[in-house]
Amino acid sequence: MTSGEREISGASPDGLPPLREVIRAFGLEAKKSLGQNFILDLNLTRRIARAAGSLAGRTVVEVGPGPGGLTRALLLEGAERVIAVERDERARGPLDMIAQRYPGQLDVHFGDALEADWPKLVGAARGKAVIVANLPYGVATLLLTGWLDSEPWPPWFDRMVLMFQKEVAERIVAAPNSKAYGRLSVLSQWRSAPRIVLNVPREAFTPAPKVESAVVEFIPHKEPNPPCTPRVLAQVTAAAFGQRRKMLRASLKQLTPEAEQLLEAAGIAGNLRAEDLTVKDFARMALIFERSGLGRR
Ligand code: SAM
Repeated sequence: MTSGEREISGASPDGLPPLREVIRAFGLEAKKSLGQNFILDLNLTRRIARAAGSLAGRTVVEVGPGPGGLTRALLLEGAERVIAVERDERARGPLDMIAQRYPGQLDVHFGDALEADWPKLVGAARGKAVIVANLPYGVATLLLTGWLDSEPWPPWFDRMVLMFQKEVAERIVAAPNSKAYGRLSVLSQWRSAPRIVLNVPREAFTPAPKVESAVVEFIPHKEPNPPCTPRVLAQVTAAAFGQRRKMLRASLKQLTPEAEQLLEAAGIAGNLRAEDLTVKDFARMALIFERSGLGRR
């Protein structure tokens, strides 16, 4: 088939049928319970794939390929291998079709991404895989915090490019003293440098969700500074932001009865509020807390 004929027949640059047809042929109507909002525009999915940098020779992990719009874009953009985890068995037909078009390059695992053993799945690509996903919004922050909690660190991936609801993306990249600054900002920014690389309007999805979306790129820091334990940082930020309007000397009582001593040891004034602290302040406090032995429960 010549490229002219392809255009006339409406086929995509990979020679596979357009996604709308694939969805119809395989009866893959979007299910709300699985957070299914598909992107059918291959130009857009290719832009997302390109946001991950050059994919030539790279192993990409994708959560929730669904009918395969982003998967196809990743392969078109040169990914050597895509390892995908999808919960919906109905996607088997469309994904098999892509696997046949790209022999040996696409592995699909059916199951819950929250339970995946990622280092095992990526195998030899450990340390240099890239995660690219249009995440199911119901589990997006859980997946993100799971990846940010990876041990050992630096982790099995060297970049993540992830789609979130815009409001969540703004929380991830928020700076201190802003309304959006909170636990997710601290947990994300302590171990990585996140930035919004693309805003995506509701209409780009089928069906259109109620909210706008944004793609966030995360580059992991090799040595998060200071080097506290993620679990303890999560405890400290949960206490501080759990009552974010209170002064730290009060909110941190949730964490330890010795909140005042902890703040003093960290050189932080007790009358500040959670949103006044930098990411480093939180990590320093977590480190002091765990070294004092109070963090062990
Ligand atoms: N990648 C496709 C795209 O961009 O058009 C679909 C993205 S859609 C927002 C989210 C996908 O995640 C759906 O295919 C859904 O079935 C899948 N999914 C939902 N929960 C999941 C889970 N816990 N584990 C793995 N996949 C999941």
